[in-house]
Amino acid sequence: MREAYSGGQLPQDIPALTPAGHAPRIAPVKRAVAMFSGGLDSSLAIRMMQLQGFEVYALFVETIFERCHPGVYRGAEALGVPLKVMPPKDDYLEVLRRPRFGYGQGANPCIDCRIYMCRCAKELMEELGACVVVTGEVVGQRPMSQHRWQQYLVEKHSGLKGRLLRPLSAKLLSPTIPEVEGLVDRDKLFDFSGRNRKPLINLARQLGIQIIPQPSIGCLLTHRSFAPRVFDLLRYRPTATRWEFEILMVGRHLRISPDTKIVVGRDAQENAVLEAAFHTHRPPECAYLHPENFAGPDVLVVGVLSEENLQLGLGFIARYTSKRKLPAVPLVSITRGQTREIRQLTDVKAPVQGVTL
Ligand code: SF4
Repeated sequence: MREAYSGGQLPQDIPALTPAGHAPRIAPVKRAVAMFSGGLDSSLAIRMMQLQGFEVYALFVETIFERCHPGVYRGAEALGVPLKVMPPKDDYLEVLRRPRFGYGQGANPCIDCRIYMCRCAKELMEELGACVVVTGEVVGQRPMSQHRWQQYLVEKHSGLKGRLLRPLSAKLLSPTIPEVEGLVDRDKLFDFSGRNRKPLINLARQLGIQIIPQPSIGCLLTHRSFAPRVFDLLRYRPTATRWEFEILMVGRHLRISPDTKIVVGRDAQENAVLEAAFHTHRPPECAYLHPENFAGPDVLVVGVLSEENLQLGLGFIARYTSKRKLPAVPLVSITRGQTREIRQLTDVKAPVQGVTL
């Protein structure tokens, strides 16, 4: 089941608004939204809430750099909870461009990103008439979002003050509103901290979670080797579009001047992605160079499409193609806007220009 919950299937017991636009006073419902990654921690958080009698809705907020994977669907199904996957939105780009609380070791704006995700969860909480948002965060487990002061910032700036519950570390944190109101039994919550996974695995066994999910490979933004691409784009294209961020995940990137970049496919799969990217939502200043009668890399020239820059693009095709695979007359097509021309790959020197990102 790809998406067990869709925005149209609201629970039946959400109170109607009064004519004045206020919700009538009724006893809070034991319903929670859980930020779910498919991993062990968020699975445990969901299980603990279920054991306290909560109806739990899982939420996965996709970003450009972290998409929902099959393990998330499987995990939600195993826990018996509906899952909503929120697709990436353009407003996430602002989080990347100007994170209020800075970046981590890579280009990861984790605190701002968590605030963004918690705001999404808050919206769903209100839509569903739930009383709390739950996460699997453990105090001190990760460097940039799971320290107490960071958690405080996330809670404050997401508008979830008193409504953000971390069942695995709750006893180390101030009681939330559902705990104070007696909806959540604080005695049944935990005080885990640090990076040791063993106690969490033991708890999973006690709670009947049979398959221990493996930690995911994580978000690309945390990778130090990926960060230069992101910072290069932010520096030279402060108003870069989503397309430009998405393309960062494909190919070899070379900055040849402040206004132009070249992207070179590294294998057949990346060539196919570059071709598809060129044909969808590309910026107007983009050319697609494709070897017509030999196996070589596809190239995008993004920026100024001068003859000099196109020659550099051709040069990178020459550089990354095995000379033995070249036919007697190697042909490359160059597509710009609506125009397509065929050129012979002759006398093109492999350029030394360009900074590899
Ligand atoms: S690791 Fe990536 S997805 Fe997770 S909080 Fe940080 S920036 Fe966001």
